[in-house]
Amino acid sequence: MEKGRGHSQGEKEKEKTCKRCKRPYKPSSNSSSSCRFHPSFFVCRRHDDQKRYYELGPDDPPYAAKFFDCCGAEDPDAPGCTTTSHASYDDVDL
Ligand SMILES: [Zn+2]
Ligand SMILES: [Zn+2]
Repeated sequence: MEKGRGHSQGEKEKEKTCKRCKRPYKPSSNSSSSCRFHPSFFVCRRHDDQKRYYELGPDDPPYAAKFFDCCGAEDPDAPGCTTTSHASYDDVDL
């Protein structure tokens, strides 16, 4: 007796994972504003303009500030300040 092979799943578009924001995305809906990320790192030092936005804790040195170097966002989970299209691990930079 032969087992039915049922429906094939080949129709569904495969999601890829973006190597920049680590989020899954569909190549067909990938546009130049799909991917939000910070081009620079989250750092802990004094703001260049001497301003301190970050509220100091009791153990922090007086000059401490934690923020993204690119845009000054103080929340490590802040949405990216730059948008571009997603890039998957499969994509090869030409
Ligand atoms: Zn992305
Ligand atoms: Zn940023």
